[in-house]
Amino acid sequence: MQSAILQLRQNYPDLNFVQGPSFYWSPETKEIIYDGKAKGQESLWSLLHETGHALLNHTSYRADFELLRLELAAWEKAKSLATDMNISIDEDHIEDCLDTYRDWLYKRSICPNCSTKCLQQDDYKHYRCFNCHTKWRVSASRFCRAYRSTKNVPQNTAI
Ligand SMILES: [Zn+2]
Ligand SMILES: [Zn+2]
Repeated sequence: MQSAILQLRQNYPDLNFVQGPSFYWSPETKEIIYDGKAKGQESLWSLLHETGHALLNHTSYRADFELLRLELAAWEKAKSLATDMNISIDEDHIEDCLDTYRDWLYKRSICPNCSTKCLQQDDYKHYRCFNCHTKWRVSASRFCRAYRSTKNVPQNTAI
């Protein structure tokens, strides 16, 4: 991990790597947050993925439907970084991450009243059911949800 960060810092002196509780890209502060205690290759892949977001300059919150496209782009970038660093990223891991993301997005979009899949409103904070007109609020979309934690997704509740 430390040597990978060292190498990335050398190759991309403009990027800010900051130690934190987990791996994520913070568009607001333009920092790549990494878990300094994390070990193993999955952590390394996460680091490269967040670096991908940073290099692609992915900004702030987006509509849910755009997030998946940006997640994919960050993984593509991570793969090319990995090649440069002689690391290989397991395609299954990428698919797992994207699947977790898809699940999370899907659950947000389901009407709590009639279970119809719906579209997010333009404010990015609400969904509204075109079938029964129920409206519900979702947390702001973020990059890089904690992977494999979809069971923690709160139930949508009507407002
Ligand atoms: Zn509904
Ligand atoms: Zn991501």
